[in-house]
Amino acid sequence: MKKLVVATKNKNKIKEIMDIMKDTGIKIVSLYDLGIEIDVKEDGTTFEENAYKKAYEIMKITHMPTMADDSGLEVDALGGAPGVYSARFAGVHGDDRKNNEKLLILLKDVPNNLRKARFVCVIALVYPDGEKKFVRGEIEGTIARSPSGNSGFGYDPLFIVPEYNKTFAQLGSNIKNKISHRGKALRALKEILSNSSLSK
Ligand code: IMP
Repeated sequence: MKKLVVATKNKNKIKEIMDIMKDTGIKIVSLYDLGIEIDVKEDGTTFEENAYKKAYEIMKITHMPTMADDSGLEVDALGGAPGVYSARFAGVHGDDRKNNEKLLILLKDVPNNLRKARFVCVIALVYPDGEKKFVRGEIEGTIARSPSGNSGFGYDPLFIVPEYNKTFAQLGSNIKNKISHRGKALRALKEILSNSSLSK
């Protein structure tokens, strides 16, 4: 069976990847399965750099085809910030509440028609022979004036999807996974993998 290492410790991401890949005949192998505990520093300035670095560092240990993703929120009125710094926008890595508060404060005086934003997800796929491939998924939306909804994580309560006039946190994971940046990137990855032997 073809195997693909997923270089993340995020169990939600692992589950989403397994769900999307379940009919491909590819076995998803996580860092937990491999007993790998290293943390790869995300110090790149683009999503591509960070995703590649995570995939490459793990591939060097496993010598197996490895994928990693990097994602974040780009807000037009902030010149694309927080971007690659989305997880640590307010200083502490992964403090969603503080990140959302900071975003609302910075956008306090920005009118509704200028609150455009997008979520971006880049996935890097790295093979043991050094070949690398990238896919990118994006979804456009606007930033709300206050949080709504309980599902999801990160900036989900503030990210309004115009087609539904609801935030990601109100839409829930079933709809979100169908339209999200990560869902789009994963489906593009699936397309690449179904045309690849993964045996290099
Ligand atoms: P990473 O790709 O795991 O490094 O995530 C980067 C950060 O971007 C997360 O911590 C969130 O703050 C934000 N982010 C990425 N994708 C999403 C999403 O689907 N919903 C909400 N926030 C997200």
